[in-house]
Amino acid sequence: MTQYDYDLFTIGAGSGGTRASRLAAQLGARVAVAEEDRIGGTCVIRGCIPKKLLVYASEYSGHFKDAAGYGWTVEWARFDWGRLRDNVQAEVSRLSAIYETNIGLSGAEIIPDRAEIVDPHTIRLVGSGRTVTAERILVATGGRVVRPEGIRGAEYAITSHEAFHLEQLPARAVIVGGGYIALEFAQIFHGLGVDTTIVHRGPHILRGFDADLHAHVETEMRRAGIRILTEATVTQIDLSGAGYVARLSTDQALEAGVVMYATGRRPNVEGLGLANAGVRLTAAGAVAVDPFSRTSAPSVWAIGDVTNRVNLTPVAIREAVAFIETEFRGNPTAMDHTMIPTAVFCHPQVGTVGLSEAEARVRHGPVDIYRSTFRPMHHILAGNEERMLIKLVVRAADQVVVGVHIAGVDAAEMVQLAAIAVKAGLTKAQWDATVALHPTAAEELVLMREKVA
Ligand code: NDP
Repeated sequence: MTQYDYDLFTIGAGSGGTRASRLAAQLGARVAVAEEDRIGGTCVIRGCIPKKLLVYASEYSGHFKDAAGYGWTVEWARFDWGRLRDNVQAEVSRLSAIYETNIGLSGAEIIPDRAEIVDPHTIRLVGSGRTVTAERILVATGGRVVRPEGIRGAEYAITSHEAFHLEQLPARAVIVGGGYIALEFAQIFHGLGVDTTIVHRGPHILRGFDADLHAHVETEMRRAGIRILTEATVTQIDLSGAGYVARLSTDQALEAGVVMYATGRRPNVEGLGLANAGVRLTAAGAVAVDPFSRTSAPSVWAIGDVTNRVNLTPVAIREAVAFIETEFRGNPTAMDHTMIPTAVFCHPQVGTVGLSEAEARVRHGPVDIYRSTFRPMHHILAGNEERMLIKLVVRAADQVVVGVHIAGVDAAEMVQLAAIAVKAGLTKAQWDATVALHPTAAEELVLMREKVA
């Protein structure tokens, strides 16, 4: 008998917390996982899953347009936001229930309550007032959305949280930000027929991505009809007859039924009592961890977005697995955060793995660049002018492919596969030794022979 109620107490039943709790329980540990909201976390409840379903819905309008060149006449196509919204939420509930069932089946206990740390081994459950003890505490509380501060009328703005639940779609939307969520929701709104404007503070959207990639996406989004205002910020939001007026630093005024902020997320650390256990934070306010997800407190670990390493669902899951390997299976495993593929489900879709050209030049010196922009075969009959971009960044010294950047149809699917070769450190010659699969867009990955830089 140990002196604690649990071997592991996890705070947060999102992707990372759920995986760690289930694995530990399957190994026979006594595990509890506390969740103050629905089971599933950001990804399932208000992120990746419902977002991707809305993106699918938004793409039908483009398909209908493309259909004419293929002989189809789409005589009536009517869209019902309420039906889509409710279907998406039903799917979210279904998935959340599956998560809950799987946690239960593993033998871990779900505590539907807010948990706060009292001392290195003690947790208080806020709703019930109960106190429990655990040998190990795992903080997996994710991130929280950043809301605008210091802007008059900020209370009128929504974030992606509320966007999933809108009563009705607005005629016009203003989206603030130029990152993942801004671009994905711009595609969702635009594809569903909403007149959409992005207001971004910087000179280019998708800062940090390869320069060719963000330039390409910006051009194609504009071509599709999304307005992108750069070097502009919202200074004030006023009520107006039709909804709101967003006033910009550029003196423009944009009427919209929805003003949505997508200006980033922060680690969800507030009120958790981390200091009570001696858990230190980074300057950016994340839980500071070492490569084994150990915090500065010997009995506390942290995984996922709350640690602000690479804020993606599969990363949180891998960090959970590494934590379990290290702490419950006696196999010290550090998470490898290199060469992680990522996608932005805007239109054109973005898939990327490895280094941008600029990053590669800084890190590796000379690089060879291979780039192809073309109209995918599908678009020719459709009369669709949208172009696709495929770019490889190759380290000149040893010809290893260190970056792959794709914008276009199915970019995310392609990059998941390309990431295997990038992670394996294959050379350009090895890529080229692979026979093309014709006719596909992806065949460009093994057919580019001329360096462009
Ligand atoms: P991002 O960090 O991707 O983008 C935030 C955007 O807001 C940037 O363009 C940033 O500009 C801008 N911004 C930040 N602060 C301000 C401000 N005060 N005023 C105006 N603009 C501002 O965050 P998101 O909210 O889009 O997404 C959060 C995270 O969630 C992502 O980083 C990603 O890790 C994850 N995510 C992943 C998805 C996927 O895998 N498909 C989908 C959605 C989210 P600047 O460039 O100048 O900093």
